[in-house]
Amino acid sequence: MKLSKVLSISHDIAKPYLVDGRKKFRLKDYDPADTANFTSADKPRAKEALTIGIDALAELQDMLYAQDRWSVLLIFQAMDAAGKDGAIKHVMSGVNPQGCQVYSFKAPTSEDLDHDFLWRCVKCLPERGRIGIFNRSYYEETLVVRVHKQILENQKLPPSLITKNIWDDRFEDIRNFEKYLTRNGVIIRKFFLNVSREEQKKRFMERLDHPEKNWKFSAADVKERGYWDDYMDAYQDMIRNTSTPDCPWYVVPADNKWYTRIVIAAAIIEALGSLDLHYPKVNAAMREELRLAREKLVGEE
Ligand code: ATP
Ligand code: MG
Repeated sequence: MKLSKVLSISHDIAKPYLVDGRKKFRLKDYDPADTANFTSADKPRAKEALTIGIDALAELQDMLYAQDRWSVLLIFQAMDAAGKDGAIKHVMSGVNPQGCQVYSFKAPTSEDLDHDFLWRCVKCLPERGRIGIFNRSYYEETLVVRVHKQILENQKLPPSLITKNIWDDRFEDIRNFEKYLTRNGVIIRKFFLNVSREEQKKRFMERLDHPEKNWKFSAADVKERGYWDDYMDAYQDMIRNTSTPDCPWYVVPADNKWYTRIVIAAAIIEALGSLDLHYPKVNAAMREELRLAREKLVGEE
């Protein structure tokens, strides 16, 4: 399929889930089980669509790398078992590993806590020409840290800076940081994998029931699930405050993994497609250099 066609289909697939701050965001308007015009009987068609998407991504990423001007930062946030890892693995499966960097952010180390909260993420930003993926990110600073107040207390911040405005302050800092990156050629897209509480339970049960999935099970995840409503409030407020036309969130339905992946692929294709990527143009002097090199190779014994 021609790239222009893939771009226009991608736009249509991703659009319903785009949150760009132009109108007030309400999480309850987004159905985690949504599959748009695909039914589960269409799974083979969905698989085919993903393959086409993966090929298009590979093509676009090759140009991104060759052009070496823009970089792309993809941020993934979600509750446990929403499918972040699988989505990243599948959607990026066609991309040249040399042009792609994935970082997973866990609880901060003591070295991290000796710095401002963006510090550890700044070190991992993608170089020009590359796609950087943050599996969790500085957004945890407005999620897990907000849900568990004792984490904030252990962050070594001067007490006078911990005010009731701290979350709005962090949103403002994040918006400014992302604007700064945008002005430096970093394209940012953010994905919230919106899984339902029922589907999460089903996936945890599967991890318990199948020995080959036991390793994925963590009792801590079940404990975290107890704070579900607090997390949903924190996600809603975070998305409301940090969605902008330049750095939008996508609220991706995550109850059906096959559909989640199509939407994410489409959104990334659309982002890359907006950059007018092309291979560097060869000028007259370079063409002459290529001609001479060819002559030399042909003339070899
Ligand atoms: P998986 O469980 O699929 O391997 P994960 O992203 O859940 O992936 P874990 O090691 O289970 O990885 O969890 C990482 C934990 O680190 C999460 O509970 C997350 O909330 C926590 N975390 C990430 N960033 C911060 C932060 N800035 N402050 C405190 N906790 C954080
Ligand atoms: Mg986990």
